[in-house]
Amino acid sequence: MALVVLLGMGPSAGGVSSGLLADGVPHSHPQDPAPPPRPEREPAPVVYLTFDDGPHPIHTPQVLEILAAYQIKATFFVVGDMVRRWPDPARQIVEKGHAIQLHSWNHDTLTAFNRKQFTRDMNRTQTELLYATRTQGTCLRPPYGATNSKVEKWAKELGLAVELWDVSGNDWTDITAEGIARRVLRGVAPGSVVLLHDGGGPRSRTVSALDIIIPALLEDGYRFGLLCPTNPLSVEPAVCAFSPAWPRMGTCDRYSAGSIQ
Ligand SMILES: [Zn+2]
Repeated sequence: MALVVLLGMGPSAGGVSSGLLADGVPHSHPQDPAPPPRPEREPAPVVYLTFDDGPHPIHTPQVLEILAAYQIKATFFVVGDMVRRWPDPARQIVEKGHAIQLHSWNHDTLTAFNRKQFTRDMNRTQTELLYATRTQGTCLRPPYGATNSKVEKWAKELGLAVELWDVSGNDWTDITAEGIARRVLRGVAPGSVVLLHDGGGPRSRTVSALDIIIPALLEDGYRFGLLCPTNPLSVEPAVCAFSPAWPRMGTCDRYSAGSIQ
């Protein structure tokens, strides 16, 4: 009893909401001391989904549909010649708020190129992106991850950052959807860049794997970031023929001649 009274009258008793009973026992508990300030809430860990080798007329829209269902964004590293063939899925990538970036014109090994070949390859791809999506890429994922200091220097001169990955679904191999998902989920850590493919081969297993990967990562508290936001351009395609920056190899000629397809 004595202890209870002592507590009731102690420094923390300021919050007693009503008086004492006749025997001096508080009839309600004093408020607890104010809790220590809560630490800043940790920001949710981020993971970056990336899709290479598209656009593809079937699989890219399938991937986009799943991303939309979960309301998450991803980055697509596209092949310029595929954008030329399939401009509609390329456009859908941008219209749905994802990032579209460069994966070379025709999936060549860029480390085998000289500077002129490299520049031509990038400019052709940027031009195709401009025509299909009215955006300009800011990142390059070299095919096969093949890069070196020359490629990085030349890319930088063209305003492109080289972006690789740290987790691969190995979805170009003979692997099940569950196998792809298992590889990704085992490998992901906060900040991970995940390599998957929406083009370059049959990708139905990748599409199925997304329905395992995404809910599992959401459950773990991850949010999905855009690795490389795209730069929307307000210019009309004809401007590229006169741009001082690009294309530098005359790739606009066929467009300004009116043969966009
Ligand atoms: Zn590739």
